[in-house]
Amino acid sequence: MTPFEIAMPTSLREATGLLDPEDPTIRVMSGGTALMLMMKTDVFHPTRLISLRKIEETASQMGLLPDGRFRIGGMCTLAQMEHNDDLAAFAPVIRQTMRMLANVRVRNVATIGGALSHGDPHMDLPPVLVALDAIAVTEGPEGSREIPVAELHAGYYETVLNGDELIREVIIPAQDARRMTYLKCTTRAVKDWPALGVALTGVFEGDTLEDPRLVIGSVAETPIRVDEAETVIKGRSLTDKVIREAGEAASANVETIPDELGSAAYKSQLVRVYVERALRAVANQTV
Ligand SMILES: Cc1cc2nc3c(=O)[nH]c(=O)nc-3n(C[C@H](O)[C@H](O)[C@H](O)COP(=O)(O)OP(=O)(O)OC[C@H]3O[C@@H](n4cnc5c(N)ncnc54)[C@H](O)[C@@H]3O)c2cc1C
Repeated sequence: MTPFEIAMPTSLREATGLLDPEDPTIRVMSGGTALMLMMKTDVFHPTRLISLRKIEETASQMGLLPDGRFRIGGMCTLAQMEHNDDLAAFAPVIRQTMRMLANVRVRNVATIGGALSHGDPHMDLPPVLVALDAIAVTEGPEGSREIPVAELHAGYYETVLNGDELIREVIIPAQDARRMTYLKCTTRAVKDWPALGVALTGVFEGDTLEDPRLVIGSVAETPIRVDEAETVIKGRSLTDKVIREAGEAASANVETIPDELGSAAYKSQLVRVYVERALRAVANQTV
């Protein structure tokens, strides 16, 4: 392994100052789970890693804000998110997702900042946060900006973050009576990387589903919000016929790409089946 430097800043501002937007071999390290895999497989050779371990405490804290939104510091681990009862009450889909994500060793160290910035399309959290309409708040030399998670991923392992910008925190708007679910298909072990993930949230008014957000992950380069299927279900009651139509609409309109977990045709079938299952899951939820 080529030698590299490790920096240990104590504030996010100091950390961003150590980044160089022109040099991709300088990266921040949060949990290090993704970076270590890339280094072990010789895909990434850093010259400097900037550890966020000693960063200010607020970066690893979470809680309800006075205005009803929920704030999660960028260094919060996935395990912290899994075990936080306030977050589970605010958005139960997050605990549901964590229990299927990797294993306890990974969740104990991987962070929400790393999970969003890595840009690997085979991640469980990004589609869920898109369906919750979450916002990533960044820290950079020019100050901070708010990026909807729906706009954060630009392509395969690509985000819209600048090279000297970090995710400081994630803010989730109040969900009120919104129902939500995340379903994941794995083709090897249950907690494996997803071959497909479907996140769905929506508000029921009587029998009809309003303001649905249906997001599919792991079948293309970025999470995809499926407008065509949302149009099918919006304002309608979820009868078997409507559910089947929505599954067909999703399958017909999501352009899947093949990977080691399945062919494009297989993934299109998964989209149809799992969209139907997600719709049945929210229809059967009691709140
Ligand atoms: C064995 C194993 C199984 C896994 N299974 C799954 C799975 O089933 N589902 C799933 O979703 N994921 C899975 N993962 C991936 C895991 O979720 C990611 O590795 C993890 O979320 C990355 O977070 P981290 O804090 O470790 O990031 P790091 O490895 O520290 O960083 C990853 C990338 O993000 C950048 N980065 C880190 N923090 C920030 C920040 N705050 N702001 C800006 N950039 C930042 C780094 O520079 C780097 O480029 C698995 C990983 C492993 C090792």
